Amino acid sequence: MPALQRAEATVRARLLAVHGYTVDLDLTRGPDRFGSTTVIRFGCAEPGSDSFVDLEPATLHRAVLNGQPLDVAALDGNRLALPGLRAENELLIEAEMRYSRTGEGLHRYTDPADDAVYLYATCGPDLAAKVFACFDQPDLKAPITLTATAPEDWTLVSNGAPVKSEGGHWEFVATKPISTYLFTVVAGPLHSVYGEHDGIPLGLHARRSLAAELDREAPELFEVTAASFDRLHEFFDERYPFGEYHQAFVPEFNWGAMENPGCVVFRDEMLFRSPATDVERERRAMVVCHEMAHMWFGDLVTMRWWDDLWLNESFAEMLGYRIAAESTRFTGTWTGFSVQRKGWGYDADQRASTHPVAGNGTRSVAEAMVNFDGISYAKGASVLRQLVAWLGDEAFFTGLNAYFADHLYGNAELPDFLAALATASGRDVHAWAESWLRTSGVDTLRAETERAADGTLTALTVVNEGERPHLIEVGGYRIEDGRVVPVGRAAVELAPGRRVAVPALVEAGAQLVVPNDGDLSWAKIRLDAHSWQLVTESLSAVEDDVTRAVLWAHARDLVRDAELDPVAYLALLERHLPAETSDAIVEAVLTFAHLHVVGRHLTGERRTEGLAALSRTARALVTGGAGDGIRLAALRVAVEASGGEQQLAELRGWLAGDGVPAGLEIGPELRWAGLARLASLGELSEDEIAAELAREPGTEAEFGAAQCRAARPESAAKAAAWQVLFTPESMSNRLLEATARGFWASGDPEEKAAYALRYFERIGEASDRGDIVAHLLGGTLFPVDQATPEVVAAAEAALAEPELTPGLRRNLADCADDLRRARAIRVAFE
Ligand SMILES: [Zn+2]
Repeated sequence: MPALQRAEATVRARLLAVHGYTVDLDLTRGPDRFGSTTVIRFGCAEPGSDSFVDLEPATLHRAVLNGQPLDVAALDGNRLALPGLRAENELLIEAEMRYSRTGEGLHRYTDPADDAVYLYATCGPDLAAKVFACFDQPDLKAPITLTATAPEDWTLVSNGAPVKSEGGHWEFVATKPISTYLFTVVAGPLHSVYGEHDGIPLGLHARRSLAAELDREAPELFEVTAASFDRLHEFFDERYPFGEYHQAFVPEFNWGAMENPGCVVFRDEMLFRSPATDVERERRAMVVCHEMAHMWFGDLVTMRWWDDLWLNESFAEMLGYRIAAESTRFTGTWTGFSVQRKGWGYDADQRASTHPVAGNGTRSVAEAMVNFDGISYAKGASVLRQLVAWLGDEAFFTGLNAYFADHLYGNAELPDFLAALATASGRDVHAWAESWLRTSGVDTLRAETERAADGTLTALTVVNEGERPHLIEVGGYRIEDGRVVPVGRAAVELAPGRRVAVPALVEAGAQLVVPNDGDLSWAKIRLDAHSWQLVTESLSAVEDDVTRAVLWAHARDLVRDAELDPVAYLALLERHLPAETSDAIVEAVLTFAHLHVVGRHLTGERRTEGLAALSRTARALVTGGAGDGIRLAALRVAVEASGGEQQLAELRGWLAGDGVPAGLEIGPELRWAGLARLASLGELSEDEIAAELAREPGTEAEFGAAQCRAARPESAAKAAAWQVLFTPESMSNRLLEATARGFWASGDPEEKAAYALRYFERIGEASDRGDIVAHLLGGTLFPVDQATPEVVAAAEAALAEPELTPGLRRNLADCADDLRRARAIRVAFE
């Protein structure tokens, strides 16, 4: 049965009104299945009509509609027909469901640290039917009342607060009306920490083996949560509507977090078993704030259909960064947004698969997941920043509050949002939306200058080569005794296709000019040649973090567009990164240099030299005078880029605890990264991997060992990894990811080239294994470093195959775009 189509959802939403679900789960039926009994009470606007309910059982025991048994054999895929509905109906479904190993539905995890079992449900976008029978579409909201039976030593957390727990039997209060994709339950012998803020009961939960980490992190998590609630309550008239607020950290979670009302789920890597940098803490704070913003955007008012995903994600993203910056100690979030997060969006917006921010064209829920991308998040948030810059905070939030008041516990679409903003602001928001929300692609803003002999400007024009209006700032700087001195910032309104003179910066005597300084807009920039020359000489001397972030992002863009030799980018890195003071910039630049520049854009001798340059830069940062966050980020790259006898001896020393740079610590994550590097160089045997695994069993060890095994260069190791990757159900999502990550790290060049071609012969098989496996095999395992004409051709042939699922097709198409880009860079400079 194909996934739900938008047209079907529209018909069903017109016909049905769901009054409530009661869901009873039996979690005591062994390792494979759980019991799921659901009663749905619902009305039908046209009595006598037929409809259908969604469910994906292992076994359907009983289905009773209005007292009449339905034929369970009539279950067609994941749908059961409901014939002859009355004005008021009651449907009973008794079923057994399968636990998931891929994080889709009710995921079951056995902790290798102590063999304890944990469960959690992921229901978005259309996975609720793997947990309970339901009308699984965002605009059929209803209260859900959960009861459950579980082992006696377990704790259960769900969207509603628990009202009773006795002898393993749990009862929860009915939720407010919510969409089915927002249901969750988290279960197991959880470790919990409780708190309260402004009358809202708070809970933090994790598996038992992470108790120490949860206790250590709880004060910071509560602090960020409290500050974010306060800010959200300043922004919005409607108070937090979902009762208690629980945050559960769960294993093998596929995404960063999920905004289930009252019970947000995070990947438990965010509890930091290993030493973490401040950038990672900042990113976590942003995610905490992002999920809290979702309580309004997404949970209280929900997009009617997945094509308006931006109504959830773009707002949560923008507010997540903003609230963290304004209300927590993580005041620098916008630097990370500029230098790292926006790159994800710019990349997406320049691929063939780009789409408008609003109205992404999702026809079937099978396509919904592919748009959880850099456009719905990073571009959408940037565009909203442009909107706020244009309207001002007051009109923006007045409009939002009217929008919430009109659609409380309901659903909305783009026109609803625009109408509220237009009323509040009195501006032509619709024209703005046409150019910013209904189009795709990135505009380029170019600086053109005339100069005196000493380089001082005599004329400055900024050219908008694109199709949208931009409200930006242009920064002007002078170079004085090696210092970069700001001389002014000019606000510039750029109509589509227009050239605007900026005399203020000429009068101020600027030498270096930066369009979109402060990063208010969504645009590529092009500096004039003299300004770029000054940047290459003085980048690290620019004082403002966001300006440096804009310039580093610009350099990244030049590399991707084959306008800057990747080797010159690495030279910029070697010259300016050792003096960099922003953790976010160091981390983003090192990551791009390592994974993209060295990993994809260089080959042969140039790659060897590039890796050596990267390794030198990272080691210079580790031993330099930077803060511990920067040094730790650099140490990670130093570990992974180690090569040559001397560096490998040093790496072995670090792993044995000898010569670890002062103030730093080799935690489990970094230890396994170092082992994976050794494994890829043929310096770690299977016996040594097994011994490391036995040293401290746990999640990192299992993940690390899987990555190490796949990373070993021997043919037999590659064959074994290949075998498990393409065997369905062979392992969990996270171990599959680890194996995919290790696979291309080494190997005989000819053998790798042969595997790259075999990859495209086999990849179609992933279509039958769900979205997550399609993401891991179609994305993580994609042979990104094999940008040869043969591999590009094989990728194109694979994409011509009509049977690919939308998720797999999107992953392959996007990776193929990157492959072509890497190929163009190689051709331009080699
Ligand atoms: Zn989100």
